[in-house]
Amino acid sequence: MLIKTLLNKVERFKSFVYGSTCVKLVDGVEALVIDIEPRRNSRPICPECGKRRTVYDHQPERLFEYLPIWSFKAYFRYAPRRVKCPEHGVKVESLPWAYGKERMTFSYQVFLSRWAKRLSWKETADIFETSWDTVFRAVKFVVDYGLAHRSLEGVTEIGVDEIAVFKGHKYLTLVYQVNAGARRLLWSGPERRVKTLLRFFHEFGPENSAKLQFICSDMWAPYLKVIARKAPQALNILDRFHIMRKFNEAIDEIRRDEVKQFKANGQENVLERKRWLLLKRPENLSEKQTAGLGELLKLNLASIKGYLMREDFQRFWEYQRPDFAGKFLDNWVTRTLQTDLEPMKKVAKMLRKHKPLVLNWFKAKGEISSGAVEGLNLKAKLTMRKAFGFRTLKCLQIALYHELGKLPEPEYLHRFC
Ligand SMILES: [Zn+2]
Repeated sequence: MLIKTLLNKVERFKSFVYGSTCVKLVDGVEALVIDIEPRRNSRPICPECGKRRTVYDHQPERLFEYLPIWSFKAYFRYAPRRVKCPEHGVKVESLPWAYGKERMTFSYQVFLSRWAKRLSWKETADIFETSWDTVFRAVKFVVDYGLAHRSLEGVTEIGVDEIAVFKGHKYLTLVYQVNAGARRLLWSGPERRVKTLLRFFHEFGPENSAKLQFICSDMWAPYLKVIARKAPQALNILDRFHIMRKFNEAIDEIRRDEVKQFKANGQENVLERKRWLLLKRPENLSEKQTAGLGELLKLNLASIKGYLMREDFQRFWEYQRPDFAGKFLDNWVTRTLQTDLEPMKKVAKMLRKHKPLVLNWFKAKGEISSGAVEGLNLKAKLTMRKAFGFRTLKCLQIALYHELGKLPEPEYLHRFC
């Protein structure tokens, strides 16, 4: 009786009442089973049109998993009715606590998905003695609900980013909203081709696209092309994060070549385990790392030259006026093209080619945060790392929406966890 009282406090279903409760074996384990009955004279709802129709017949009893109570699994037990709808024929009635053939109740799915945000999916499955697949279905349900019910109001700044997944064998294009105070993952799609980003704009819709003011992206040609076509009014900015990433990729390439040469010549590999010294900003290094960097700088290495060129370029971001910044850029490009560092020369040529878009950064200065895309990119990578067991791209996309989408959840009378 007490359980019924409590259930009525946390969750009530119109046209249904809680019946008797008992403890019985479910899949070989003792569980709490709570009967549900339709209210007298209530008529079932057709799942197609949502209208109340007459009862056709009753189906066998089914169990619907509810939130565990004192670590006992709990189930609703109910015999669904079939409706006879003049429009849609004979159908199993629509229920307010679960959907279709799903064995979990809505509340239990939301419960699991909340835990799956705090813990890994595997830990969530272990704690609640369920399967990884069950946790996945719960998260997917909540994400699908959120995507269908979220608002796209006020999206005026977005960032387009790509991340390598499955050890770099595949790419995922991510579109973030980067408005101050409203940063979230808006969209994700496999690959990084023209048609990938076209799909985003198609789903986002022309009305929303017309409201975009700033779009941050990297120099990837397919992205630039689609942005120019689908949001010509927006200022396309090649932002600091994406540009500096190109520098780091170039330094890494030079370093790898140099290590290969050391090996071929039988020389000592002075760059071993020094990768991060070169990729991090000097102000982010520890004292010991700074000393290590000092030692490296004394050597006449191509990697070090690349490193110094990147640090030299950092001054670019401190300019206030686009014209001065532009002059600095031209000088830097000229100096770099006179060196023999091919990967750096490639960066220089890219910067020269996209100079107007790079300078857009200064036009948007103060209006767009340099850290927004970077922060979301970092979070996406963390989600991937936490994502042990995400074997498919679809699965990974759901995890990313779940963690970064700031999606609305179904609302309940009671907050369970
Ligand atoms: Zn109907």
